Amino acid sequence: MKHVPVLIAGGGPVGMTLARTLASFGVRCLLVERQPSTTRHPKMDITNGRSMELFRRLGLADKLRAVAVPEQNNFDVAWITTLAKEAGGRELHRFRYPSVVEKRAEIVANNDGSQPREPAMRVSQVVIEPVLRDAILGDPLVEARWGVAFEDFTQDESGVACTLRGVETGATETVRCDWLVGCDGGSSIVRDKLGIGLSGKANVAHRYMVHFRSEARDILQAFGVAWHYQSAMGTLIAQDDTETWTLQMRMPTDGDTDPNTVLDAWVGRGGFERQIVVANPWFTNLLLAERYGSGRVFLAGDSAHQYIPTGGYGMNTGIGDAVDLGWKLAAVVNGHAGPGLLQSYERERRPVGYRNRLASERHTDVRLKIAELYKRERDPEALARGIAALGNAENESWGIEFGYRYDGVECDPVVYRPTTAPGARLPSVFLHDGSALYDRLGRWFTLLRFGDADPSPLIDAAPVPVETVIVDDPAVAPIYEAKLVLVRPDTHVAWRGDHCDDGRAVWRQVLS
Ligand SMILES: Cc1cc2nc3c(=O)[nH]c(=O)nc-3n(C[C@H](O)[C@H](O)[C@H](O)COP(=O)(O)OP(=O)(O)OC[C@H]3O[C@@H](n4cnc5c(N)ncnc54)[C@H](O)[C@@H]3O)c2cc1C
Repeated sequence: MKHVPVLIAGGGPVGMTLARTLASFGVRCLLVERQPSTTRHPKMDITNGRSMELFRRLGLADKLRAVAVPEQNNFDVAWITTLAKEAGGRELHRFRYPSVVEKRAEIVANNDGSQPREPAMRVSQVVIEPVLRDAILGDPLVEARWGVAFEDFTQDESGVACTLRGVETGATETVRCDWLVGCDGGSSIVRDKLGIGLSGKANVAHRYMVHFRSEARDILQAFGVAWHYQSAMGTLIAQDDTETWTLQMRMPTDGDTDPNTVLDAWVGRGGFERQIVVANPWFTNLLLAERYGSGRVFLAGDSAHQYIPTGGYGMNTGIGDAVDLGWKLAAVVNGHAGPGLLQSYERERRPVGYRNRLASERHTDVRLKIAELYKRERDPEALARGIAALGNAENESWGIEFGYRYDGVECDPVVYRPTTAPGARLPSVFLHDGSALYDRLGRWFTLLRFGDADPSPLIDAAPVPVETVIVDDPAVAPIYEAKLVLVRPDTHVAWRGDHCDDGRAVWRQVLS
C-alpha cells in the first residue's frame, strides 16, 4: 500500500498552500482534488498583506504579483447610486486606498514596526489558483492529483488509511498516511466523517453572482477606476481593471436570475457588450467548526470556518491555518518535536477563526446599515455623509489582519500595535542597510539578537534548526522590546527575554 507522511484532501488555495509549506520544510505529501482543474469561480479578490508575507516566505509573492492587478492601480471602494450617468447616476462617497506602489512607499516611510512586509494584493481566485498549482506541480516533494476524490478514511494510533477514487475512471485506491488534513472546503467530507459540527449561522443570506467580461469601461468605470463599486443592490468587483468583472448582489426579489437582466438592473442600463462567464446563486455562512481535528486528522480553511466575504477573511484565514499547521506537521515528521506540538494548532487557530467570523459579521452589519440609509435617505449629499460616517472598517481592520495573537490576549480589531509578546506576529522593519528584517529570517526558527545578550543557551539546546540574526541597528531595537527574540517559522514570536538561563526549558515550552 502506498504511504505518504501527509495526505491533503482538497486542492483549493488552502490545500495548495499547505502542500507548498510542507515541501518548503522537506516533507513529502500527496494532495488530491476532485475537480479536473482549478476553480472557475472568482470568489476571493483580496489577498491581504499578512497572506502576502506568508506567500513571500514560501517564495511565491513575486509569482502571484505577476498575475495580479497592476501595482499602480488603487484599492478604492466607491459607493454609487447607479452607473447610468445619463440618468443621474453618481458616485456618493469614495474610500480611497493606496496602490501597491504607494503602499510600498508608505511602508518605507513609516519604519516603526507598524507596517506589513508586503502590501495586500488584488487578484481573483480564478487567477491565483493556477499559480499555486504550478508551484506545487513543479515541486518533487508534492504529488498533486486533480480529478481524484477523497472518499473515506479510518485512523488508528499509527496512521490513517484513506480511500481515493478517480473521478473519471471510478477506480479506488487506498493510501496510508501519518497525518491527514481536510482542506476540502465548506462541505468537507473529512469534517463530516470526524463527526465535527459547525456552530454559528448557516445560510445567512441568499446571493447571486455574475462573472463576466466586458470592455465597456466607459460604463463600468463611469466614475474612474475603483476596486469595488457598491450600491444598495450589491458590489461590482473590478477583477483586473480592464475587462473582467464580478457582480455580487442580493438575490433578485422577483426571482429573475437571468444574468443579463440582473447585470442591466445593477448597472442601471442595458445595451453594452458583455460575455457572461459564470453566474449562479449562493448562500453566505458564518460558521466555525467545533474542533479543528481529531487524532491524526486536521481541518484547515473553509472546512474549519466559513464567513461572509465582507473583509475578505475566508482564504486569508485559511492561509494562516495552512502555514501554522504546515510547520508544526513538518517539525513532527522531521522528528524535531513530539505530536504534542500539533495540539497547539487548534488552540492557536480556532480563536482566530472565531474572531474573524465575528469581524465579518460586524462588517456585514455596516453594509446592512448602509442599505437602510439608501432606503431612507432621499438627499444624495446626506446619504454620502451617512456612508462616510459609517466607514469602511472591512478594508481597514489591520488589527484583525496583523494583530492576532496566540497568547489569548485580545487586540484592537482596527489598529495594529507592534509587539513581540510571545504569540504575536513579529513586527516588520527595514534595517539601516535597506534590507528587510523579514527577509533575513531563517526557514525554521530564528533568534534575533539585539545588543550583547548571549544567545548560546538557546542555540546549544535547540532541537530544531535555528539561525541567529544579529540586529545591529539601534533605531529599530526598541520595537523588539527584548535583547533576544525567538521567532517561529510562521513569523510569530515564540519567546523573548534579555537573557536565557535555561535554553532546554524554553524549547520544551515552544515545541510542546
Ligand atoms: C463571493 C466570495 C468572495 C470571497 N472573497 C474573499 C476574499 O476577498 N478574500 C478571502 O480571503 N476570501 C474570500 N472568499 C472566501 C474564499 O473563497 C474561501 O475562503 C477559500 O476558497 C477557501 O479555500 P479552501 O482551500 O479552504 O476551500 P475551497 O476553495 O473551497 O477549496 C476546497 C477544494 O476541495 C475540493 N474538494 C472538496 N471535497 C473534496 C473531496 N471529497 N475530494 C477531493 N477534493 C475535494 C474542492 O473541489 C475544492 O477545490 C470569498 C468567497 C466568496 C464566495
